[in-house]
Amino acid sequence: MGHPLRGRLFRGRPQGPSCPRRRGGGRDRPPPARESYLNVQRILDAARSTGADAIHPGYGFLSENAAFAQACADAGIVFIGPPPKAIERMGSKTAARKIMAEAGVPIVPGMRQALANAQEAREQAKALGFPVLLKAASGGGGKGMRIVDREEDLPKLFERASSEAKSAFGVGDVYLEKYIRKPRHIEMQILADTGGRALYLGERECSIQRRYQKVVEECPSPFISEAIRTKMGEAAVRAAQAVGYVNAGTVEFVVDPEENFYFLEMNTRLQVEHPVTEMVTQIDLVSAQLALASGAPLPWSQEEIRRTGWAIECRVYAEDPLKKFFPAPGTIAHLTEPSGPWVRVDSGIYEGWTVPVFYDPLLAKLIVWGRDRAEAIRRMERALAEYEIAGTRHNIPFLRWLMRHPRFREGDLDTHFIEDEYLSKSAPLFPTEGTELPALAAGVHRFLEDTEPGTRPSPSASGAAEGPSPWTLAGRRSSLRAAS
Ligand code: ADP
Ligand code: ADP
Ligand code: MG
Repeated sequence: MGHPLRGRLFRGRPQGPSCPRRRGGGRDRPPPARESYLNVQRILDAARSTGADAIHPGYGFLSENAAFAQACADAGIVFIGPPPKAIERMGSKTAARKIMAEAGVPIVPGMRQALANAQEAREQAKALGFPVLLKAASGGGGKGMRIVDREEDLPKLFERASSEAKSAFGVGDVYLEKYIRKPRHIEMQILADTGGRALYLGERECSIQRRYQKVVEECPSPFISEAIRTKMGEAAVRAAQAVGYVNAGTVEFVVDPEENFYFLEMNTRLQVEHPVTEMVTQIDLVSAQLALASGAPLPWSQEEIRRTGWAIECRVYAEDPLKKFFPAPGTIAHLTEPSGPWVRVDSGIYEGWTVPVFYDPLLAKLIVWGRDRAEAIRRMERALAEYEIAGTRHNIPFLRWLMRHPRFREGDLDTHFIEDEYLSKSAPLFPTEGTELPALAAGVHRFLEDTEPGTRPSPSASGAAEGPSPWTLAGRRSSLRAAS
């Protein structure tokens, strides 16, 4: 696909790593969001003064802001994303639920308008049956969401959810949905052109979450069958067409243990986890976005979209896994990123850079591809083992622990996985102080074991594979041969 846009492209800086800042220095700390990346006028000024004729909004901040998309159009600049109208129609969860139901897309049982008061909440919840979920109509990032198990908790939680929604989104509207038990989060990537044609590229499993936010994503999902994949893909295409969608988008579903899927919301932008779909379909989604924004038709039929192998993404966050994943700002004192075949690191960090307090503490995304899920997991373990970040706490020790977890390996996932398997356990599940020391200790231990075979206990706490590796055995055999 040739580059369809003339002139220069201005990329609004997305959150986190996707848009590296100037290397070295690092003294020019970014100002708070509202004065920089949320300031529409400044972004348009920057685009004009650099002669950009299009803006890619990234995946945070203004990417789902209809007013920004409209301001670009008014300034004669192409917004690389959907039309403002489509963003608006998907912007309110309640309005979107109404449109989806009319388009024949299954939605989670529940309301299609905001709650008027706590009394109405009580009536609606009783009709739905507990547990129910209070959600912010203009929600995002898991804010304003509360699970309600019992009627007596409802008034208090209703007040809390609406005040949280009010401070996060400026609108306090909340509504009720049936809470799906043992839910999986599975979403469908779509592409749509200006001619009204839309395709689905396949699903992503995003059930590994904390605070309702994704930490690990994979494509395909280890759970759904080909028949459900097709149904879900077709539902996602109907969802996009119902709002006149153009460009790349994601339709999120919650899936119950019986493989019933229900529309959650549509993210009208590129998503953080889009690389796993790129690895498996070999379609460059950003390049497709540029072509679609320039008015090009989709160059593929649905049958031409092929998926090969398995991809996993781990979000590397500056947050402390021993303190409930609390953000841990700091200065990167040392950095070694993994590399090698089928390993992709989308990162914007460098040694000397200070993780700012203003934004999401996402440092990098580590993506691997394998021929099947087992190979992808093995490759992820290898890549995580190569990753060295010092100077700030990060979640790599947690991710390494997760890759070895029997339930994760079996693909037995739901959105409570981290809570049930990790946060609710009291004892630390992996080495606590910096990752280098235990790794070094494990190395020394193995070295000693190799020199005196059979005389040392096998490593277990370090998480090393059980028994000597094939390399160790081969080494022993060759030294025996040399000795004889
Ligand atoms: P995804 O489903 O792609 O993970 P998220 O809802 O987690 O999407 O949001 C993606 C990124 O955008 C996150 O880093 C999040 O903090 C940021 N983000 C989401 N909503 C907003 C918003 N209203 N303002 C600023 N940043 C936002
Ligand atoms: P946000 O805009 O904050 O991303 P979503 O509607 O996408 O809100 O929900 C975020 C997460 O909350 C989902 O990924 C899922 O884990 C959980 N969730 C949302 N709705 C339900 C529901 N009805 N039942 C169970 N879990 C839900
Ligand atoms: Mg969501």
